[in-house]
Amino acid sequence: MSDYDVVVIGAGPGGYVAAIWAAQLGLKTVIVEREHLGGICLNWGCIPTKAMVRCDEVFHLMHRASEFGLSADNLGFDLDKVVDRSKKVAGQLTSGVGHLLKKNKVETVMGTATVKGKGVVSVETEKGSREITGKAVILATGARARELPGLEADADRVWTYKHALRPVRMPKKLLVIGSGAIGIEFASFYNALGAETTVVEVMDRILPVEDAEVSAFAQKSFEKQGMKILAKSMVKQLDRRKDGVTAHVERDGKIEKIEVDTVISAVGIKGNTENLGLEDLGVKVDRGHVVTDAYCRTGVEGVYAIGDLVAGPWLAHKASHEGVMVAELIAGRNDVHPVKPESIPGCTYSHPQVASVGLTEAQARDAGHKIKVGKFPFQGNGKAIALGEQEGMVKTVFDAGTGELLGAHMIGAEVTELIQGYVVGRQLETTEEDLMHTVFPHPTLSEMMHESVLDAYDRAIHF
Ligand SMILES: Cc1cc2nc3c(=O)[nH]c(=O)nc-3n(C[C@H](O)[C@H](O)[C@H](O)COP(=O)(O)OP(=O)(O)OC[C@H]3O[C@@H](n4cnc5c(N)ncnc54)[C@H](O)[C@@H]3O)c2cc1C
Repeated sequence: MSDYDVVVIGAGPGGYVAAIWAAQLGLKTVIVEREHLGGICLNWGCIPTKAMVRCDEVFHLMHRASEFGLSADNLGFDLDKVVDRSKKVAGQLTSGVGHLLKKNKVETVMGTATVKGKGVVSVETEKGSREITGKAVILATGARARELPGLEADADRVWTYKHALRPVRMPKKLLVIGSGAIGIEFASFYNALGAETTVVEVMDRILPVEDAEVSAFAQKSFEKQGMKILAKSMVKQLDRRKDGVTAHVERDGKIEKIEVDTVISAVGIKGNTENLGLEDLGVKVDRGHVVTDAYCRTGVEGVYAIGDLVAGPWLAHKASHEGVMVAELIAGRNDVHPVKPESIPGCTYSHPQVASVGLTEAQARDAGHKIKVGKFPFQGNGKAIALGEQEGMVKTVFDAGTGELLGAHMIGAEVTELIQGYVVGRQLETTEEDLMHTVFPHPTLSEMMHESVLDAYDRAIHF
């Protein structure tokens, strides 16, 4: 007899959502967390970064006050207060997670878990060891910053995202290594506050997973804001001194030395696979992440793995969605579908914002689709002009034969809110006709989503 139906290890957005849903499906559920409810997302990721980005947005608008007929003098900021606000926002949400777990009758155990055998989990708590048994175990232990040899963080001159969220100084000259969403968000944040910022990316363009046209648009916009972008470049060495760092950057076969006072390393993540008992259990790990099938099954009966611990995209909503799916599998529901990676939206909260779902134009062509592409610029939209946000575009990619919406790619103000419209469209397997017949409210930024579809079929009205 097991103590529980489900033991969840890790209370990030994967684990706590899985636990709540499992409990709602009638399963007796316990969740084990070693550090903080809410995981990276609520404590060190999605939420605190967005709280800080919001400060940037307000600051940026205050600088533009005169454009709106307003005046604002003696503008400045107190970085400690910006950080305090982000901690407060995160704190409000983590205590909310505790409340939700309790309300749903999920038992919470604070401690470090190790799987000792099938369905047997040992937990080291402040009060000593405890053994918990469960019919099913969900591994949701998340990930941490990946560190490259020689470029490791030291909490002073070289930071990971954790240090960048609790800065020991306001960087004057900043080097960001890596131009994925995390690197670009920090580059955009510190650049807007006045740090002279350089981004180094090994691939041929920044935000390499995005549509090439959006990447190029973003680069132009960031450069206009004073950021320096070095693509096809690699940081080979960091010479650390008390007062700064010399970065050796390889570019076109030559080494360029860049002097900065702070470096942020944002070169990806590595799953928290260690000390979990995975080897003895027979759970496979590949390049730092647990291997699963499309249903998050590890191949060991009764053991599932979700979220950042497994293959990407490494996003909170993907982790939560997998959590829901696994809870339903364990509850024996027979209508469970795997999460489709191509339907998971991705957002970058830089200035301007970037958001996308589905195939890029190049991916659609490579997959053999004959395509129709539509585009609409922010300059053609009344609400964008009224907001003073004319920089951006919406791009849609359709299969020319079937009219299936293959992908949508956006850059500009609030596109991280808009993208969900296309995500729903894709989920409902919408075609260009459905979208053309949809009524969009006026005046809104969403009208650009309509116009982009119309443009794909040479019917754009406002541009
Ligand atoms: C700076 C930054 C910004 C981000 N912004 C976004 C964003 O805007 N949107 C987005 O979708 N994603 C964002 N992410 C990614 C997002 O945070 C992750 O995808 C998400 O947190 C993954 O959820 P998870 O539940 O798999 O793991 P985590 O959130 O990492 O949670 C895992 C939990 O397991 C616990 N744990 C680990 N080992 C054990 C053990 N042995 N015993 C008990 N507990 C254990 C950990 O303490 C942790 O609380 C961001 C990440 C970073 C770093």
